[in-house]
Amino acid sequence: MKNVRYGKCVKCGRTYAAVPDLTTCTCGGILDIVYDYDYIKERLTKQTLAARSEHTMWRYRELLPVEETTAPTPLRVGWSPLYEEPRLAAQLGLKQLWVKDDGQNPTASLKDRASAMAVAKAREAGAQVIACSSTGNAASSLAGNAAAAGLATYIFVPSRAPKGKVAQLMTFGATVISVQGSYEDTFELSKAAIDRWGWYNRNAAINPYLSEGKKTVSLEIMEQLHWQVPDYIAISVGDGCTIAGLWKGLKDLYAIGFIDRLPRLISAQAVGCCPLNRAIETGEPWHPMEENTLADSIAVGVPRNADKALSAIRESHGLTVNVSDAEIMDAQKLLGHTCGVFGEPAGVTGTAGVKKLCEAGILGSGDSVVSVVTGNGLKDVANAIKACGDPISIPSDMDRLLEAFSERGLSIK
Ligand SMILES: *Cc1c(COP(=O)(O)O)cnc(C)c1O
Ligand SMILES: [Zn+2]
Repeated sequence: MKNVRYGKCVKCGRTYAAVPDLTTCTCGGILDIVYDYDYIKERLTKQTLAARSEHTMWRYRELLPVEETTAPTPLRVGWSPLYEEPRLAAQLGLKQLWVKDDGQNPTASLKDRASAMAVAKAREAGAQVIACSSTGNAASSLAGNAAAAGLATYIFVPSRAPKGKVAQLMTFGATVISVQGSYEDTFELSKAAIDRWGWYNRNAAINPYLSEGKKTVSLEIMEQLHWQVPDYIAISVGDGCTIAGLWKGLKDLYAIGFIDRLPRLISAQAVGCCPLNRAIETGEPWHPMEENTLADSIAVGVPRNADKALSAIRESHGLTVNVSDAEIMDAQKLLGHTCGVFGEPAGVTGTAGVKKLCEAGILGSGDSVVSVVTGNGLKDVANAIKACGDPISIPSDMDRLLEAFSERGLSIK
């Protein structure tokens, strides 16, 4: 890879040749992929990019850690819509608001970006089997992207994973191990199994290429905004790989001169599970927390990518915000009602955070914000039904319809 220099440990600074099955440093630290920006600048301009017809994450190939000869993965990952939402902006009191609907990826979450990268790197490594542990979406995205590429998958999920996600896994033909325990227990078992059988590792906090896949979300946001930098980008945080990837993409664009300043990040977690935000807020090292939230994708009590996530939030002079399950459910309805975007609980947590910061007067009429919806609501129908209640249920009878309308005080025009 001529565009990549090496992998560098975020803890001790040691560097490693960027082989396809790169994992963590001997000190236990996670690696960051370091690029040769001079090489990239000579090959990638805004004009060459604008002329490209490939509307997937692979349109940013020069900024991705893959060989020039590695083929794009089969499913269409990335280039999800960025909607400007003037009515919601007005309602919240913001200058401008955009919603990036990453639930519109092939397996319906942002995780497809990392999984497509895992499939590309597994192919480079000549691997036939990929494995991971996941709260659900990393798993279903890996299973789908690997199935399309003809690779087998072994997947470890905590037994609380929502049925919709497990159904995806089974449909994509993964061998699924449902671990009776927390996400932490699930992660440990997957790690032991991967060590034992030597499968290609798609655990995002171990494989440094995965957040490079995730960073394509911010490359897209900036291209879709014609390189006009918003004041803030809000996103939900669990392990921390997503926010770290988002930040990496922005720094890449800054390094090659595509943007002239960096936005501030908004890190949104659940009140019942916010170890990373708590570390920022108290200025202390992070400590494990219980996993008390219905937003299963960010119910991560022991974040696996704390170092990268914390430095992303700090470097960006970011904001933290913790929202309750009730606030998450409200945001799910709000996005649905005003934007027609249906996110899963963790998917709308960033928007719940933006709403809360607006209500607290921390964000206001001078601010432009992008809120990333990270996963689709159909993945977790049970919680969506809890949030929105029941429809009008009556026999096929006009009188009963009129009755039902008047009972609810609905005047129909
Ligand atoms: C995984 C996930 C997140 C958080 O990503 P991390 O890398 O764990 O911080 C947020 N939302 C959804 C829908 C996810 O699947
Ligand atoms: Zn190290």
